[in-house]
Amino acid sequence: MDIIDEGKAVVQLLDQRWHEQKVDKVAVLRLDLIHPVISGNKWYKLKHNIQYAIDNGIDRIVTFGGAYSNHLVAAAAAARQYKLKATGLVRGKYAENNLTPTLKECLANGMELHFLSREEYEQKNNPDFFDSLFRELNGSFIIPEGGANDYGIEGVADIAHFIPDDYTHICVAVGTGTTFVGLVNALREEKSVYGFIPMKQGRYLQGDLEKKIMPGHRKWQLLDNWHFGGFGKYDASLLRFMNVFYEQNNIPLDMVYTSKMMYGLQQMILSGMLSPNAKILCIHSGGLQGNNSICDKLVY
Ligand SMILES: *Cc1c(COP(=O)(O)O)cnc(C)c1O
Repeated sequence: MDIIDEGKAVVQLLDQRWHEQKVDKVAVLRLDLIHPVISGNKWYKLKHNIQYAIDNGIDRIVTFGGAYSNHLVAAAAAARQYKLKATGLVRGKYAENNLTPTLKECLANGMELHFLSREEYEQKNNPDFFDSLFRELNGSFIIPEGGANDYGIEGVADIAHFIPDDYTHICVAVGTGTTFVGLVNALREEKSVYGFIPMKQGRYLQGDLEKKIMPGHRKWQLLDNWHFGGFGKYDASLLRFMNVFYEQNNIPLDMVYTSKMMYGLQQMILSGMLSPNAKILCIHSGGLQGNNSICDKLVY
């Protein structure tokens, strides 16, 4: 069994050809290296949730996700490592012989799965519905979808400790925005933080996230130009980008989040939107297990 090792997270400089020296430097914080599936930001969002369950003698966590969810599989593997039982409530009714690689990995880690219709899934935060459907889960600790709670935000603050002082710009991919908010709140105000949203019209998150950001922070910005058709969508140009990025930098990117962030950042740099003095650190938030469904199209 692979054990989480935060010591494996290194800051890796990108090849200068990648940014054509239009900025001072670009590096990637390799949180993808801490564990093959409890990777990247997911571990940080989970760690205080897991700790809470352990401290309170709760023996089961329950959480939610889609059939490709990095969070769901990370929760399954983390629960296993900490000897907690885990239940995953999955969006969509999948037949047992038609499971995604992600769901198979959840089962392999001992997670029990329940499949909800999309209508049922919509109601997941309604306690009455939840209790009636899953009476046997009473007394479990419920972690929201994506680990998006205060314990999640608290854990993300640990990521800030890996960021060397001299970096002026921090880039992070946004799903629920928990990682983005946690980082903005944990970092000193003079650093700019860019959140790259991989969904169409993702800027709807702006108002929600703004409420969670501590007053006084000004230098943060959400960008949603590089969604490639929407969440989870990709095209040949994104795949080509991922392969070239790997060949130049020896860093695998995932197709949902980090590839779109790096693509967007490169466009910003090459079009001269960033100062030549900028020192940019991108958070590799992991999620590489999601590439299983397109591995025949990737060189890694
Ligand atoms: C889940 C995930 C994100 C989004 O994290 P949030 O905290 O929900 O915004 C970003 N990158 C990867 C690789 C992820 O798996």
